[in-house]
Amino acid sequence: MKLTTAQFKTDFLNEIKTLYATDLNDTSALGQFIALGHLVRRYDGSQWTKTSEKYRKKDRKQVYYFSIEFLPGRLLKSNLLNLGLLDTVRAGLKELELDFETISAAEPDPGLGNGGLGRLAACYMDSMASLGIAGNGNGIRYRYGLFKQVFMDGYQVELPDDWLRNGNVWEIRRENKACLVRFGGNVWMQPQADGQLQPVYEQTDDVLAVPYDVGMIGYRNDVTNTLRLWSAELPPSADNAYYSQEQRDRIDDITKVLYPDDSNSEGQALRLRQEYFFSSAGVQSIIRHYGLRHQGMRELGKKIAIHINDTHPTLVIPELMRLLMDDHHCSWDVAWALTTQVMSYTNHTILQEALETWPIDMFKGLLPRIYQIVVEIDRRYRAAKTPIFGEDLVNRTAPLGNGQVRMAYLAVIGSHSVNGVAPLHTELLKNDVLRDLYQVYPERFNNKTNGIATRRWVQLANEPLSQLIDSKISPEWRQQPSQLKTLMAYQKDAKFLKQLTTVKQTNKQALAAYIKQNLGIEVRTDAIFDVQIKRLHAYKRQLLHVLEIIREYLDLKAHPATKAPAHVHIFGAKAAPSYHYAKAIIKLINALADLVNHDPDIGDRLKVVFIPNYGVSLGELIIPAADISEQISTASKEASGTSNMKLMANGAVSLATLDGANIDIIQAAGEANEYPFGLTAKAVYGYYERGDYRSVDFYQADPELKRVLDALVDGTIPGITTEGREIYDSLLRYNDEFFVLADYESYVQQQRQISQDFQDQTKWQQKALANIAAAGIFSADLAVARYADDIWQVPHTLLQD
Ligand SMILES: *Cc1c(COP(=O)(O)O)cnc(C)c1O
Repeated sequence: MKLTTAQFKTDFLNEIKTLYATDLNDTSALGQFIALGHLVRRYDGSQWTKTSEKYRKKDRKQVYYFSIEFLPGRLLKSNLLNLGLLDTVRAGLKELELDFETISAAEPDPGLGNGGLGRLAACYMDSMASLGIAGNGNGIRYRYGLFKQVFMDGYQVELPDDWLRNGNVWEIRRENKACLVRFGGNVWMQPQADGQLQPVYEQTDDVLAVPYDVGMIGYRNDVTNTLRLWSAELPPSADNAYYSQEQRDRIDDITKVLYPDDSNSEGQALRLRQEYFFSSAGVQSIIRHYGLRHQGMRELGKKIAIHINDTHPTLVIPELMRLLMDDHHCSWDVAWALTTQVMSYTNHTILQEALETWPIDMFKGLLPRIYQIVVEIDRRYRAAKTPIFGEDLVNRTAPLGNGQVRMAYLAVIGSHSVNGVAPLHTELLKNDVLRDLYQVYPERFNNKTNGIATRRWVQLANEPLSQLIDSKISPEWRQQPSQLKTLMAYQKDAKFLKQLTTVKQTNKQALAAYIKQNLGIEVRTDAIFDVQIKRLHAYKRQLLHVLEIIREYLDLKAHPATKAPAHVHIFGAKAAPSYHYAKAIIKLINALADLVNHDPDIGDRLKVVFIPNYGVSLGELIIPAADISEQISTASKEASGTSNMKLMANGAVSLATLDGANIDIIQAAGEANEYPFGLTAKAVYGYYERGDYRSVDFYQADPELKRVLDALVDGTIPGITTEGREIYDSLLRYNDEFFVLADYESYVQQQRQISQDFQDQTKWQQKALANIAAAGIFSADLAVARYADDIWQVPHTLLQD
């Protein structure tokens, strides 16, 4: 949209006056942010309305992306970028003697997700809008987001994330679109005069689901889509129903807090309530919206696609069946054909403990009608497939089995498409985790490699790099990241490579300033910034990185004259509050940091920095400053990873196992430009099959490794008596479940190589450049376009090369 600086200043000052009945001098950065947010909403307002009108007029097929997590990050900057107002607003604020960065930093960062899953959903919302897809998000408006992490005495302490304390400028409460969600009670089927059966519900607990809509603004294309987040409230009481405090609390609890568990499924009934709550409310609102302009349900499959992001929203399948049969009087066969036509499912993990299941007794008690429908899905699946595939296979794959409702199986059976998120992951789904269902439905399985919003992770997070790129190639890359590949023309341009070093220095200085200010640690910006940022989990192997730091420390102590570049190891990671082992690793890293950072023999040559409370906003600060991207999960365990893509796009070189999308990154940028190491997935599976992994052998064969491991228990690192022992035992007594010791030697070798290679900055920046230039293929726009073409069958405006 068009806006002059002068007009913006007038609008902004008016907004301040209207909102606060005072003048600019009397407002805080937060107040200024809120005013600016209101103004942006107003600038966007007609575009949002027009987008819905346009979709309605053209009767466009709508995509609904269901996800129990959305991790959008701060929205002010990206909304301004996408509306094309960023420069105008910056200039206007400057003329008012305000600092845009300060105002922007006052925005709360909504932590409505744990990590990669929620961030992916947010990137895809951005891309759907930017590609002109009629895409809607559907999720939960948690009153408290993921906990705020602080360290006390090196231990993680969790504080509540009260992100709504000052309201949320981006949301619109639509109480006129609220609907009721039923839990518990009894249900029985009553025959009607026409012979149809209608459910009769008795003594249910009803919850009012109230939607809050947030505009998802496309990149300079006049499109604003909607992210709809549901909040649980007391139903209006026409009959003056009395609610006890306990009943009120039970309703409040449904959307009170995000489950802080990243990949273990918790057996709590509350989680199941959350899942049905947003699935039911979402499907009800879809059907209502569809019903406004269509007669009957015949066209449903042509007008609606529902995407199930991981298993948490799987109950959309029986919920849609319920609405089609009970409210719209479809037969089972018609309802089932429509449902499978509408639904598609993305699997995000092969970890057994992360495959959701619910005890049948709990499920039945909480969702009696939905349970009846799942029983019928199960019965029909068994009847249809047993004659073809035999009883054993069908028993293993049916939605009900071992006293459990098996969500992943239900999701596959009720969808027309099942995708993994990187080629290796999709192969493992077919050959291992969902092998049996792959026999039954081979045509449903496909791969959609994850992607990232380059707009946020490069254009906004790394303006110095973006400007440098603009000075060399056409700014088309901003809309079409695949154009980044034309940067390879500068592979041998010494001046450009120097400029890359300068850009990296600038970003490292910004991060170093944050570290100095918040942690009191001084780091050299000519050091290697070696970054591992992701949830803390045994399979992600922060521990392997820690062993390397201990090795470097012992090495520097033993050989003080060693010449090597300074090394700064940077961590960001939250552990699930109940994940004892992950918390022990946090304590270990902090204790090691204490030792290393204060050792006068070490000085500024080695630093360990654990930045607390990692989230999207800290990612935007850390990623542009990284030299090394640590992607060191045990091969086969990380489905795709996305921080690997963000870091690559910012010129970090991957130190990576052959896991998830690392494989594709290494292939895209060229093996010579990364540092791959470690067991392949095949080798890991080989160990499983033979059962012959013996971690102790590695300990005994390598004196250096022995010295490093002994440091965990011999007092070398003060303050970790119990944690050190526990970790040591996990590696040696309990045989090292994630093959840390097997990969140690090849990891250390690559770290040594990095220390050498980093000293030749020309060569180093050539690697960085190869990574930036190849990162375009991991754009979320491309990924979403493939979902649109292959799965949702909706048009989009992606520019193809
Ligand atoms: C991208 C991102 C992740 C995912 O990181 P992985 O290393 O792929 O697990 C997690 N958290 C945040 C805040 C992110 O931005």
